[in-house]
Amino acid sequence: MASSPKDLHFVLFPLMQQGHMIPMVDIARILAHRGATVTIITTPVNANRVRPAIARAIEANLKIELLELQLSLSEVGLPEGCENFDMIPSFDLFPKMYAAMDMLEQPAENILRGLNPAPSCIISDNQFPWTTDLARRLVIPRFVFHGPGCFTYLCLHIVMNTNILNEIESDSDYFTIPGIADEIQVTKAQAAGWGKTETKEMVEFFQRMEVAEKAADGIVVNSFHELEPNYVEELKKAKDKKVWCIGPVSLHNRSFLDKASRGNKSGIDEHDCLKWLNTKEPRSVIFVCLGSMSSITTDQMIEIGLGLEMSKVPFIWCIRNTTKESEKWLLDGYEERVKDRGVIVRGWAPQVLILSHRAVGGFVTHCGWNSTLEGVSSGIPMITWPHLADQFLNERFIVDVLKSGVSVVEVGDRDKVGVLVKKERIKLCVESVMEREGEGEVRRKRARELGEMAKRAMEEGGSSYVNMSLMIQDIIDRL
Ligand code: UDP
Repeated sequence: MASSPKDLHFVLFPLMQQGHMIPMVDIARILAHRGATVTIITTPVNANRVRPAIARAIEANLKIELLELQLSLSEVGLPEGCENFDMIPSFDLFPKMYAAMDMLEQPAENILRGLNPAPSCIISDNQFPWTTDLARRLVIPRFVFHGPGCFTYLCLHIVMNTNILNEIESDSDYFTIPGIADEIQVTKAQAAGWGKTETKEMVEFFQRMEVAEKAADGIVVNSFHELEPNYVEELKKAKDKKVWCIGPVSLHNRSFLDKASRGNKSGIDEHDCLKWLNTKEPRSVIFVCLGSMSSITTDQMIEIGLGLEMSKVPFIWCIRNTTKESEKWLLDGYEERVKDRGVIVRGWAPQVLILSHRAVGGFVTHCGWNSTLEGVSSGIPMITWPHLADQFLNERFIVDVLKSGVSVVEVGDRDKVGVLVKKERIKLCVESVMEREGEGEVRRKRARELGEMAKRAMEEGGSSYVNMSLMIQDIIDRL
């Protein structure tokens, strides 16, 4: 008979993509911190990426283990070692990865049956639909973890479960999401990236995800109640399930190392980065980072660089993929011109370390949900620049619901894909979020309040802390 978290063993299956792996590793550490045993199951390449964080947790006497499963990549036609979505050369190869993930069901079952203590609960990404059946066979609950927050989750649910998209003719037509409290307008293309306009095999995969989610025992969301109280309640009703908001989980990272080495190896020495930030005035720096998946053209990169230069605001700019052409432009005078007030990070930035520094006052984000929440937690306004999937809805949440952000793409251009945003617009947006009077100040104050709420939610007795206790109790009650 289980009576405390110490009697529980959670098995976590994170999707192999940074925006899903990173929060799952945080969730694992939070659960282990409460005394539970936690096993994370992933592939060798992904295990190597998160091993330092897990090693630190083990050193701190937390009961966490990483176990590995091999994807049959050659069988589905993907190159060996291509184990993360950020390593797949193009989006149209994603279904091959899903096919390889489907083949993990039996090997995963073999691992789970050999675990000691026996697993008491599976928390798995919604893109592993077979984990619902696996949990059933093991007679344990399965909770779903899905990337976005409750607002976006609910909007996607409405879009997927009504006829609304079929009623709209053109991909670029705007419509209002029906049945929600705020007036949210998106185009069909922006709302449809989740199973309605994809290929036949992807539509089938999304349908399996839906079925598996319906059969799951609860939903774990990286959000906090005070951020979106109505949407948490509406999501519970729409899904007819328990929903536990247990975030922002990034706030569980308190030490320098935990904040600095989250995800990939950083493209900058983290100590140098802090030293530089320490020389700057509070809330004076803008941080630019467009996530782990989205890519921009060289022309767009140059416009960003020039816009930042024109704004005269100190900045840290993370550039994920440079090309020969863009490197040439950076080295041909740009880096030299901005060296007194700009830091360029190539590859991966220590995002949470940077965002949590008091010198940072604004964030240009692609609106991935983790970045959105990390920006909220830091109490700073955002410049929103969505590129794909749920990012468009997350943008609307930041701008229209939270009112703590400014869209970089102008209203008239938002129905077009891949619009080139000019340097003048970037300069204007940077100045507007950094502004310390008028509208800018109202936005800053709002963002500051949200940041304080986020921190309170994660403290002992806060809403997310309590939700985590309730989720644990829910499992104890079932055993
Ligand atoms: N991230 C980071 N450094 C980078 C890019 C991303 O630390 O240079 C982290 C970021 O803090 C977040 C995650 O990677 O936790 C990205 O997740 P998100 O949902 O924001 O977007 P995605 O990359 O999945 O589109």
